[in-house]
Formats: sequence, structure tokens, C-alpha cells
Amino acid sequence: MKRIFRKIFLAYLVVIVVLTTTILYFSFSIIKENHQNNLIENLLNINNPIDRAIVPLLLDSNMTRMDSLVKVIGNDIKVRITIINNEGIVLADSQKEPSKMQNHSDRPEVIKAFALGKGSSIRYSSTVKKDMLYVAVPIKVNGKLLGVSRLAIYMDDFDDLISNLRVRILQIVFIVVIISLILAIIFSRNITKPIADLVLVSKAVAGGDFEVKAIAETNDELKLLADSFNNMIDKIRYLFQKTNRQKEELINIISSIQEGIVVIDNEGKIKLTNQSFNKIVNNESAVGMFYWEIIREPAITKIVKKLKDSDKNRNTEIILNDEYYICNASHINDRKEIVLSLYNISHLKKLENIKKEFVANVSHELKTPLTVIKGYIETIEEEIDEKNKKYLNIIKNHTNRLIDIVQDLLTVSKLEDNNIKLDISEFKLKPFFANVYDTFEQRLKNKNLYLKINLADENLVLEADEYKLEQLFTNLIENAVKYSEQGGITISAVKENSGMRFEVADTGIGIPDSDIGRVFERFYTVDKSRARNYAGTGLGLSIVKHIVNLHKGSITVESKYGTGTKFVILIPLIGLNSDIT
Ligand code: ADP
Repeated sequence: MKRIFRKIFLAYLVVIVVLTTTILYFSFSIIKENHQNNLIENLLNINNPIDRAIVPLLLDSNMTRMDSLVKVIGNDIKVRITIINNEGIVLADSQKEPSKMQNHSDRPEVIKAFALGKGSSIRYSSTVKKDMLYVAVPIKVNGKLLGVSRLAIYMDDFDDLISNLRVRILQIVFIVVIISLILAIIFSRNITKPIADLVLVSKAVAGGDFEVKAIAETNDELKLLADSFNNMIDKIRYLFQKTNRQKEELINIISSIQEGIVVIDNEGKIKLTNQSFNKIVNNESAVGMFYWEIIREPAITKIVKKLKDSDKNRNTEIILNDEYYICNASHINDRKEIVLSLYNISHLKKLENIKKEFVANVSHELKTPLTVIKGYIETIEEEIDEKNKKYLNIIKNHTNRLIDIVQDLLTVSKLEDNNIKLDISEFKLKPFFANVYDTFEQRLKNKNLYLKINLADENLVLEADEYKLEQLFTNLIENAVKYSEQGGITISAVKENSGMRFEVADTGIGIPDSDIGRVFERFYTVDKSRARNYAGTGLGLSIVKHIVNLHKGSITVESKYGTGTKFVILIPLIGLNSDIT
């Protein structure tokens, strides 16, 4: 506030100083000029009677008389009188002996008098050694120029007068300036005080005090400003209370959520946790600490890093204190903060494990009796009569189907085993697919279908679990053969930056749009009546998906119902050890 006061005050000061100096400067020069003009006028007036007294003596050439007359008059009227002839020779002078004086034809006032009819000048007189004002007028008789009469007065008096005047004026100006400055201080205070009050009020509001009010005693713009400011305080108070209420509600909601929730800032410091999170990590004072000090789980550090690199929400499965959690990470507040939610899936994991174990055990137990049944069917098939052969065929088909299901279930169980290890090796794709081709050669011939293998490069190699990839392609080609009645299957492989991209396309019956999202689910078969025709287990694509996931790859399917189906598989060339989904 002192700054504004200083600025306004300085502005006043500058205006006052500029105004007074300008007025002083001009008034001094005007006064001086007026006074000089008056003096010149007076000297010219005095000159007339003097000329009249001198002319007869001049005509008589009575220089001695003229000189004494000039001395008497000059002494009386305190004016120096000098009579000069046409050649500039001094004929008479009231203060000096004319014969001892220089030729005066070069004096400015004399030159002007001869040329213009009158002349004046102020200058230093070498004769009397003082500053003097000279006024010279020509002496004429009947139009004949006889010389010049020059009157002069000392400038001492005039200078004294002017400096007296200056002192008086300066005294008055000084008093006026002092009064003006006092007024300037009062005006500046009047302007800055309401602003200073407003600053105090705004500081109080910034500090959280919404009960203060800005008061302006004047009835001008500052009053309007104070009124708007008060309105603003009311609005801020209302919004503040509303936000606080909403914040409390939100905190209550977050606290009551079963999932553990933690908000971390850009540097990884914990800003907020809920009760469930505190319980999970067994720490009530996690706020303010780094999240890695609280949850020592590398998978979380990885998803936080991945989330920072791209906006996609991430989730991963983690184990904390022997409990399983799905940890989800997403951005909030314009990417400034990250919220992690921990959902306990231990009960689901337990159920899933029980289910897996049950399926594996049942499949295992069923495998032997089914193989025995199949064996007996084949034995009695030889001996049975034609009538009963029809029924035995039905039993045989269903037994084969059961054996397929059991086999597929065992495969799925093995793939789902948490301890499963991939047997990674580097193998060439050309012999790999040649082998796959051989497996299907007969079935393709039977259905009159082709199988084309298009490798972008003859020497393509892949680092993966060869046996499982064989299972993957066998399942896909089996489906393609099963669901195609004409045309054939085209397999292509091309190496891309992100991995090896395979396509398995057929010209079969296709998959309806409504089913395409579910074909990878276990036991899912499109349209039961159609499935019966083709007799599948509904586990083939589930096995395929498992194998792709184990390789950290991806699989998508495109299909046009009635035209064909295309599966696109991407197997990454690196990163098989990453555990982030
Ligand atoms: P299934 O053993 O019944 O073939 P899958 O899991 O292999 O089971 O396939 C699931 C369903 O997806 C199948 O019932 C089938 O209707 C459909 N399907 C899979 N592959 C193809 C394909 N190449 N063409 C048409 N439909 C297909």
C-alpha cells in the first residue's frame, strides 16, 4: 500500500514542482520585460524636454554651455545624459568630460537610433563601470539630423527590485508548495486508505476468515468495489461450505468402501487412504509416506510407471499378506494424481482353485473308464448285428465326444496351473507349419479344402513354447476345417515391431456378430443345433486363448457370417517375463 501512496504522492509532487517552476520562470521574465519597457518609455518621455533645451545651444555650437546644462539636468533627474554628433563624437555628458570619451558611433543604441529613429540596449558601461540601460533618440531640426541624445540609468536599482520581487514570490511559492504538499498527502491517504482496507480484508479472506466485510465510507467507485468484494466473499463462503460438505460426503463414501483406496501424487507420496486400505497394509499413518514404503510390491510400481507412460487404466493381480488382490491404477485430477484400488479376490481365487482341482480330478478319473468303454465298443462292434450297430454307433460317437471333452479339460487344467512353465525355444516357422500341414493333410483332402501357408520370409524364426503353439494352431485349423465346406484355410506370418503376427483365415460359415465376443469362453458354442452338427467341446478356443496369454500375446477374431473367419494372433518377441496384464 505504501507503494501506491508513494506513487500518487510523487505524481502530485511532480505536478506541483513542474507547475511552480514553469509559472515562476515565465512570470519572472514577463515582469522583467514589462519593467524594462516601462523604463525605456519613461526615458523616451524625459528625452523630449531635454532635447528642446539643448537644440539652440547645439545650433550655436555652444558646447561648454551645453555640457554644463546636461550635467545640471542629469544630476537633477538622476539620469546620465550624453549628446553625440553625427560622427559619433561626444559633445556633452552629464557624468564625464566629453573630450576624454571615445567615439560612440559603434554603440548599439546609437546605431539603432540613426537607423530606426530610436534605440535601446542594456550593457556594461566601460565609462562608469556598471550595467546600464541606454535609450538613444536622434536630434532633428527641420528635418536635419544634428546628432543623437542618449539617456541612461543604472541597472542596479532595477536588479535590486527584481531580486526583491523574486524573494517575495519565492516565499509565497514556498508556502503554496508546502500547503499543496500537505493537501497532496491528505488526498493520497484518502485514495489509498480504502484500498489498504480492502487489502486487509482480502488477506483475511485468503486466510479462511469469511466473516470480514469491506467498508467504503465514500460514495464512489471504491464503494462499488467494496460492495462487489463483499458479494464475492459471500459467494466464496457459500462455495467453500458446499465444497467442504461434498468433501466430507466423499470421504465418508470412500471410507465405507470395501476396496482399499489410496491416492498418490506425481512423486509417489500418499495423499489419501481409506480405512480398508489402512487395514490391508496394517498402517494407520500412511499419508505423507511414499507408496513403495507401504506396499512393497514390484507389480504396483510397474503399473504406476506404465500408467504414467500412457493414459490407459492398468490392473494387475498382487498378493499381500497371503491375500490376493486385483490392483487397479487410474489417473485423476488431470493426470496429477493416481488412484490405486485394491479389491480382495482371495475368496474368488479359492473357489476358482477348488473348481480347477475338481475339474482336473474328475477329468483324470473319467479318462481311464472312458478309454476302457471305447475299447469294449470297438471289440463288440465286430460281433454285433446290423440292427444293433446303429445304436452302438450312437454310443461310440458320444463316448468319443466324452473322451474329447475330458482330453480338452485336462489340457485346460494343465494350462491354468499356476506353476505352469513355458518351454521356450527358438524354432523355424517353415518346418513348424509343414508339420502342422501333414497332420491335417488327410482331413483336408476328405473335405476338398486347401491349406495355404504364407510366410513373409522363408527363414522366419520364433522364440516360444513350440509344443503349445502347435496345440494353438491345431485347434484353430481344426475349427477352420470343421466349419468350412468349400474353399480353404490361409495361414500367414509376418514379423512386426511388436511381435510375430499370425493370421488364420478360412472361407467357412463364419461366426454371428452376437456370439463373436464370447467364443473364447469355456464351453461356449455358437448355436447348439449348429454345434451338434459339428460336434465340438466348446473348449478349443479357450485353450488357444490360454496359450496366447501364457506368451503375453493377444488374439482377436473377425468374422463375416456366411463368408469366413479370421483369427489374428500376436506373439511378442520380448517381454515374456512381464507379469502385467
Ligand atoms: P468347439 O469345440 O465347439 O469348436 P471352440 O471353443 O473351438 O469350440 O469354438 C467355440 C465356438 O466358436 C464354436 O462352437 C464355433 O461355433 C465357433 N467357431 C470357432 N472357430 C470357428 C470358425 N473357424 N468358423 C466358424 N465358427 C467357429
